[in-house]
Amino acid sequence: MNTLKVLKDNPNNDNKNSQIMSFIEKNINRIVRGLGLILVIIALILILSVAYVYFCVILPSRCEQPLIVRVIETVIAIWLLFSVLETFRRAALKEPGTPPPDLLSEEESLNIKASHENQIENQNLEEEYQPYELDGYRWCSICNKVKPPRTRHDRISNSCVLRLDHFCPWLNNTIGYHNHKFFILFLIYLSIGCLYAIYLTFPSFLQELGFSSSTKPVEGKLVFVCILCISTLVGVLFLTGWHFFLLLTNQTTIEFYLFQALKAEAIANGRTFQNPFDLGYRKNFEQFFDLQNKTWISFLWDFSPKKGNGYHFATNNKNTVDHTNQNIHWI
Ligand SMILES: [Zn+2]
Repeated sequence: MNTLKVLKDNPNNDNKNSQIMSFIEKNINRIVRGLGLILVIIALILILSVAYVYFCVILPSRCEQPLIVRVIETVIAIWLLFSVLETFRRAALKEPGTPPPDLLSEEESLNIKASHENQIENQNLEEEYQPYELDGYRWCSICNKVKPPRTRHDRISNSCVLRLDHFCPWLNNTIGYHNHKFFILFLIYLSIGCLYAIYLTFPSFLQELGFSSSTKPVEGKLVFVCILCISTLVGVLFLTGWHFFLLLTNQTTIEFYLFQALKAEAIANGRTFQNPFDLGYRKNFEQFFDLQNKTWISFLWDFSPKKGNGYHFATNNKNTVDHTNQNIHWI
């Protein structure tokens, strides 16, 4: 008890604790990055294992099928393998985007910085305080630069990220404005790839369970691929559905929780709140996949870089924000 009291009363402890927390935070970033690298390697091994089983086991085992069927199946398999690997590569290696230091004029930047510092001083906030934001410019005291709308500081990469969504350990990369589209495409192609592999290997799986009258010996690799793809599909479909909901309603994972809090606050005060970036399902979808003047289905094979700079976003004008004092004006 005495030791605890001494620790609590010692004024140097706060400083020491913050140093320890800072040290742990830096090392956690390294651990997360290290684990992410291992997960990326595991993901690639699993994807390539399925591809190996297809070309070395499934394809030879389907020699009884007509040639045209085998050709079509092989073309589909190659297309899916290419799409999974290419969207994986782009989502994992493409930088999510960070705002440049000269985004605004020096005078505008200094005004935003002064406003931020006043807020910290007046409200007795911590130096690294990150205000919630809707469609206004903010100051990041960690990067020491202006953050455009929807940009947030990512603690894993320790930088401001445009339209930050989350850090994906399986890609070992932060998902933001410039690679979010490839992240979703990767989920879609992984889901289709799993479904296709299940379609080809499910008869062997049924045979292994004793639900088949076939007398051919069961190929263990096919059963393994089938179980692997069923397990992967369950998780990936859930993730794909969640991210489709977010993109159709034009919000990031972080914004979803922020908007939920703002909605609850609005309801408690007898008001309503609507996501200011929500332009309707169709426009949100077109905006996310850059589909202006294109058919909607073309998002599946459009692997071109994300258009726009990630600094400006159209709003529905249902809510507006006073940038100087954060008061939200309700509809
Ligand atoms: Zn920052």
